[in-house]
Amino acid sequence: MSAPVFRFAPSPNGELHLGHAYSALLNEQLAAAIGGRLLLRIEDIDTTRCTPEFEAGILRDLSWLGIRWEEPVRRQSEHFDAYRDMLERLSRDDLVYPAFMSRGEIRAHIAESEAKGRHWPRDPDGVPIYPATDKQLSSSERKRRITEGAPFSWRLDMQAALSSLPAPLAWTEFTDEGLGGSRAVEARPQEWGDVVIARREIPTSYHLSVVTDDALQGVSHVVRGRDLYAATSVQRLLQELLGLPAPAYFHHRLILGPDGRKLSKSLGDSGLAALRDGGATPADIRRMVKLW
Ligand code: GLU
Repeated sequence: MSAPVFRFAPSPNGELHLGHAYSALLNEQLAAAIGGRLLLRIEDIDTTRCTPEFEAGILRDLSWLGIRWEEPVRRQSEHFDAYRDMLERLSRDDLVYPAFMSRGEIRAHIAESEAKGRHWPRDPDGVPIYPATDKQLSSSERKRRITEGAPFSWRLDMQAALSSLPAPLAWTEFTDEGLGGSRAVEARPQEWGDVVIARREIPTSYHLSVVTDDALQGVSHVVRGRDLYAATSVQRLLQELLGLPAPAYFHHRLILGPDGRKLSKSLGDSGLAALRDGGATPADIRRMVKLW
């Protein structure tokens, strides 16, 4: 049997903080405990927010923590062709459609419906579900708008995707930090509605590139924060639609700030670089995230 494969997959759109340190250290610790490999993946598809400086900072912080990863590092912005292939597969199966509504149009559409007393559903992140309007457009109307240069994203036709599946979907979730036990979790991708799969100018999205890379890199264990637990439903669905293997997951506790809220990338105090500059050692960081 081949060795288990773990990955730490930060986005270089800000500095690493204690939450990232915990995630990276836990991935490394678990990989070491079961004779696995540790990969580092830079998730930089959002070329407007990700910068080489942030990426350099990530590599610096991880090295300082003493984390070792395999080379080469996979940088998502260098693999758009792989994501485009996956998008084409979904498109051939008629599972994606061009969605033209702007944010303003979506808001107006929902406000109009809510004014009539109808409750508009939200996804697990609290974002309103995309209206079904564009799904009804004829193929000639779609072509006309695209030829005219109208901006659009590719969205998954959730209903069509779900009805193409033979059985309900589940994933394996570990139940403790040591990966001692696991349980099956039912995937509920329908809660997300017609999610964005790719943008016109970037042929991918977070979900599509994550499932593509996890499969291409042979990732067997996805260890990441609980904030991505609900997103796993969408990723399981895409794996199934694309015939990709499903890793096992552990969604770990989040490191909270002194105010009890999730850390953000703009929070200077819990930034690893600031802590290092203030004299903290890698051992201090382990203690702060309760991992030793
Ligand atoms: N790049 C994502 C983030 O920084 C993590 C993706 C994942 O672990 O699946 O939040």
